[in-house]
Amino acid sequence: MEKTLSIIKPDAMERNLEDKIKNVFIRNNFEIVRERKVKLEKKDAEQFYKVHETKPFYNDLCNYLSSGPVLVMVLQKENAIAENRKIMGATNPEEADPGTIRKEFGISIDKNSVHGSDSKENADKEISFFFKD
Ligand code: ATP
Ligand code: MG
Repeated sequence: MEKTLSIIKPDAMERNLEDKIKNVFIRNNFEIVRERKVKLEKKDAEQFYKVHETKPFYNDLCNYLSSGPVLVMVLQKENAIAENRKIMGATNPEEADPGTIRKEFGISIDKNSVHGSDSKENADKEISFFFKD
């Protein structure tokens, strides 16, 4: 069984989409093995998205992720990392396939409702970033 990190981002939390999005994971046979609601400090967001530090959108991205509470989850399933990326849909909701979380709930490329780890290496890093034990 593989584990991946998922975050329900501030735009979705603000619209009370927490249960609706969790239900998508449950319906797709993910087990939510850990979860934590947190309000990140900007420095936490900067560390979390450090891979993007040279991108022009980095500052806005970090301001946004730390703008309100988020729900952080560890999802478990066979092939969880790729399976989660599949049901999340493309980064830009406008380009996401019908039925994906970002198509259904995302507002824009910056307010795209969910984060998902993109590789085994990053999944392990991101899980230990939020769950220390
Ligand atoms: P995430 O890491 O949040 O799961 P992702 O892996 O689909 O998203 P990344 O390339 O890792 O996409 O980008 C991280 C986040 O940065 C995206 O979720 C998006 O909100 C934002 N982002 C990416 N590209 C752009 C862009 N061109 N303009 C504005 N924001 C962007
Ligand atoms: Mg990413």
